Amino acid sequence: MLKIAKYSIGVGDRFAQQAEAQLRACVLAAEKGVEVIPVWNKSNREHMIVGSEPSSVRAAADAAVKKLGWQKMHHVDADHIRLETVDRFVPHSDFFTIDVADSIGKPASAESVKAFADRHPELSGRIEIAGIEGGINSSRAEVERIANKFLFAVQEAAVIYRHIAKLKGEGKFITEVSMDETDSPQTPVELLVILVALADEKVPIQTVAPKFTGRFNKGVDYVGDVAQFEKEFNDDLCVIRFAIEKYGLPDTLKLSVHSGSDKFSIYGPIHRAIKRHNAGLHLKTAGTTWLEEIIGLAEAGGEGLALAKEIYAQALAHIDELCAPYATVIDIDRSKLPSTEEIAGWDAARFAASVRHDQKSPHFNANVRQLLHVGFKVAAKKGETYLSLVRKCEETIARNVTGNLFDRHVKPVFLGQ
Ligand SMILES: [Zn+2]
Repeated sequence: MLKIAKYSIGVGDRFAQQAEAQLRACVLAAEKGVEVIPVWNKSNREHMIVGSEPSSVRAAADAAVKKLGWQKMHHVDADHIRLETVDRFVPHSDFFTIDVADSIGKPASAESVKAFADRHPELSGRIEIAGIEGGINSSRAEVERIANKFLFAVQEAAVIYRHIAKLKGEGKFITEVSMDETDSPQTPVELLVILVALADEKVPIQTVAPKFTGRFNKGVDYVGDVAQFEKEFNDDLCVIRFAIEKYGLPDTLKLSVHSGSDKFSIYGPIHRAIKRHNAGLHLKTAGTTWLEEIIGLAEAGGEGLALAKEIYAQALAHIDELCAPYATVIDIDRSKLPSTEEIAGWDAARFAASVRHDQKSPHFNANVRQLLHVGFKVAAKKGETYLSLVRKCEETIARNVTGNLFDRHVKPVFLGQ
């Protein structure tokens, strides 16, 4: 069976221009003695907005691997796919993120809920789980409540998994199940029930993306109770270990954190937890690289800076349309967005400082950053005008892309620095 390595990082690359710069971050980690496997992820939503094909992600990834002589594994993730969107990803991906968040809460049949609870009497009452003090306390009623909430979604995940397996062949790909894009976080006991149900359905899940407590807004830091997050994250790791041992799930099963990019305040707790439990981790980022493209363009000055400003101006003009698909994952204070006239006077350093995610910088503006995060459609519409300038400004962009991934993500999460 194709297995995922212990540590992996999901790198999104909206325009398929930064694979090499992204891979360099993994090379730097390897030089420090830590294997972090790159996984290029792009969701159907991104492909639709950019107007790209899944084959382009594979081509860019393979070219970067060849160019840098990367000998370790690398993967291409069909991110957040569903039954109706997965087919065109199948030839090009070896990692599939099955998204069933929309099915959470749709009730499963009464018979299947009862059958699940009957099959798993061990889940009712107290469940002893190594690492969780006092174990988890549950009851038959609780198991039925959770099964009623998640069983339908799990059954759907199984249908999608089997569909991919039929096309691609069993054991030829890595399976992730994501439930992060939903309203309420899943508790450790809910995660356990979900994993048990997936094991019952014989889905060889290797990464699972629950929704964690707190807000994971696009492109900005975590908003929530960090101590509570840390406790739940630790408990989730214990639940996963327990599920691997007791229910025969793949021993590579690990958490996948869909960060929405740049959740710096929880990176320390995440690192401590994976070290404490000797656990693996998949950290999935997507838009953070696109923002570095904008920063690198701006830093190049001249026409690069002009284009970066123009993209901001157009994003500002189309703010409602751009924000709509991301309404639940952005918080923009429009009163703090500078006007087009104001940024016209900014030099390269000033523009870059407003976007770059350095919370200590007095010029960092989380509102500008979030608007640009969802504003990649503006760049997509420019097509070759955008891409040719990105290629022209490769030096400043690549430096920012690699530096961002390595210094702000790989180091704190995987190296503990
Ligand atoms: Zn996600």
